[in-house]
Amino acid sequence: MKISDIPLPSRMARLPRDKHGRVVPWFVAWVDGAPDHRVVGAGKLDDAMRFRVCWLCGEHLGAYGAFVIGPMCAINRISAEPPSHRDCALYAVEACPFLTTPNMRRRDSNLPEAAQEPDGIMIRRNPGAVLLWVSRDWKLHPRHQLWTVGDPVETRWYAEGRAATRDEVLASMASGLPILRAEAEQDPRPADAHAELDAQYARALELVPT
Ligand SMILES: [Zn+2]
Repeated sequence: MKISDIPLPSRMARLPRDKHGRVVPWFVAWVDGAPDHRVVGAGKLDDAMRFRVCWLCGEHLGAYGAFVIGPMCAINRISAEPPSHRDCALYAVEACPFLTTPNMRRRDSNLPEAAQEPDGIMIRRNPGAVLLWVSRDWKLHPRHQLWTVGDPVETRWYAEGRAATRDEVLASMASGLPILRAEAEQDPRPADAHAELDAQYARALELVPT
C-alpha cells in the first residue's frame, strides 16, 4: 500500500506538509524552513507533557493515550515518546517509513546541533516489530523525559505496516533482550534486576499474538 492510500486522520490533515506533500508530525523539528523528521523540535517533549497534547497532531488528548513502542518498551513499559491519539498512532504505524520498513536505517549523519536525544537509554536499532499500546494511564518516569505506560486496554503488533506475526514479535523481543540483560547487569543489585526483568518478560509474552 502506498502512503498516499492510507487514510489520514482528520486531526493530522491539518498539519503542514513537506515539499513531497507528506504531513509533518507535530513533534518534528523545522530547520531552516524545512522539516527534519529525524529530530524532535525544541521544547516539544515538555509541551506534550505539560499541555497533554498528541505527539503526532498536537491537539488535546482525551481519556486514552496511544503509545507506539518497540518490543523492549513492551517489556519494561517505558516509552521515550509521549502518547498520541489512537487514530494518529495507527496512521503512524501504517505510514511511517522508519517503523514500517525494517531494513531502513536511521540516518545519523548531518544532524543539526540542536538535535535532542531522548533521555535514558537510546537504542539505535530498528525494532522489527512495533506495538500500538493504548492505555488510560501513563506518567512521567522518574528519569526525565521518559514515560511509564500503564496497563493496556488494547495492544496491536505491527511489522512493515501490517499486523505482525507471532514469530516476528517473538524474534523482535528476543533480539532486544540482551540489551535489557546488560542493563540489569549494571544495576547495583543485579540479581534482583534480572529477576524483575524475567517477570517483565513473562508479562510481555502474554501480549504476543497467538
Ligand atoms: Zn493526534
